Amino acid sequence: MSIEIEDLAARLVAGERRALARAITLVESTRTDHRAAAEALLDRLADPSRAALRVGLSGTPGVGKSSVIEALGLRLVDAGKRVAVLAVDPSSARSGGSILGDKTRMEQLSRESCAFIRPSPAAAQLGGVARRTREAMLLCEAAGFDVVIAETVGVGQSETLVSRMTDVFLLLLAPAGGDELQGVKRGIMEIADLVLVNKADGDLAAQAMRTRADYAGALRLMRGRDTDPEGIPAARTISALTGAGLDEAWAEVERLAAWRRDSGVTARMRSAQAGQWFEDELRAGVEALLASDAALAARLGKMRAEVEAGRAAPSAAARTVLDPLARALRGA
Ligand code: GDP
Repeated sequence: MSIEIEDLAARLVAGERRALARAITLVESTRTDHRAAAEALLDRLADPSRAALRVGLSGTPGVGKSSVIEALGLRLVDAGKRVAVLAVDPSSARSGGSILGDKTRMEQLSRESCAFIRPSPAAAQLGGVARRTREAMLLCEAAGFDVVIAETVGVGQSETLVSRMTDVFLLLLAPAGGDELQGVKRGIMEIADLVLVNKADGDLAAQAMRTRADYAGALRLMRGRDTDPEGIPAARTISALTGAGLDEAWAEVERLAAWRRDSGVTARMRSAQAGQWFEDELRAGVEALLASDAALAARLGKMRAEVEAGRAAPSAAARTVLDPLARALRGA
């Protein structure tokens, strides 16, 4: 390993935030030499004794994610914890800018020396975001952070992705007007451990309580996960503005995390997550391999155009590429 990486690792383990930021930049890079350095660094830093509580938090824009994380984060910092926040925003690849990358977000928390906030990289595919976030999470742990929060906008598959790399998953909602559930997809309800109805203050307080009751009812209908103690999943009201309910919500997160740790659920979850990560890496690797051969990439591009024009069937076209590969693998 180069002296440079050795030095970076040492500074990161000492908790230097600049070193952590540089290390994350390294894992975000797609350059081959950076990739090799990133892998050497991660290898060097692997230390199971440095484990953080990994929390996923999802919610649509405007629901109050950054306000809640700031309020919670400041409480945790006050309690002597070190808190890292990683934004996971695959949509930024399309929109060209990161919704979560706004510098003014979590301004107070970002000034705390025990906090670290990292916006989503400006351009990345979902797969790239997954790898980057998993690796960034490991880097934060190696840097001695006690809590790592992965924050994501509730769009596309990003919440599933985040739930696959965290110990506890929180879904943030706003008080709803009517009595119907806010079009929240069943899938995200199924992965939520705690549904937090934010903005339970002032004029919105009563509405927030009704929304909480609606979701508590919906969650009861989907009970029966073997990863949960009694009372989980649960719905609570909170207010990032007044701080109401935040301590209770966090206490619940810690209780759940402790229960899962003591009952072996966390170990099982993390091992399944490692398996999933391996599969994701393989799939991404095969795609990168296909794209790395210029002639093959050109042929694939042409075939895609044929399929799009309706001149070739998608599955048959894929087969003409895959069959020779399969034969080559078998050594025929
Ligand atoms: P994000 O897009 O999910 O990160 O949402 P923000 O944290 O930026 O909040 C969106 C808006 O909701 C802002 O104007 C906040 O001031 C407001 N907001 C956030 N939390 C609360 C809360 O607990 N109560 C009230 N009344 N407003 C809130």
